Amino acid sequence: MSLSTEQAAFLLDACKLIQYATEQGFVVTGGELARTPEQQAIYFKTGRSKTMDSIHLKRCAIDLNFFKNGKIIWSKEILAPLGAYWETLHPKNRWGGNFSNLVDCPHFERVPAP
Ligand SMILES: [Zn+2]
Repeated sequence: MSLSTEQAAFLLDACKLIQYATEQGFVVTGGELARTPEQQAIYFKTGRSKTMDSIHLKRCAIDLNFFKNGKIIWSKEILAPLGAYWETLHPKNRWGGNFSNLVDCPHFERVPAP
């Protein structure tokens, strides 16, 4: 599967996630999707990321902001059902809330073929 095919499939899953979250009563706003190597280097240097090989570089990851009652939600416990939904959409989908090295609840990715 080509990278652009993976990117398109990823984005369709992101649409489903946004729709699902909205149905669950969240207001969803968009964060980062595409990322340059230069920006990744800054995140790595400042500890915001633990890798120089982020899926954002392949445009197969998105950071989303979830709000309830006007307040942004960071809680892994509250967002876990969204992460679980995301991972049921495709076997290659990973939720950042389940990362072991750096829990990243707003992050949703699809691991493309190497
Ligand atoms: Zn991210």
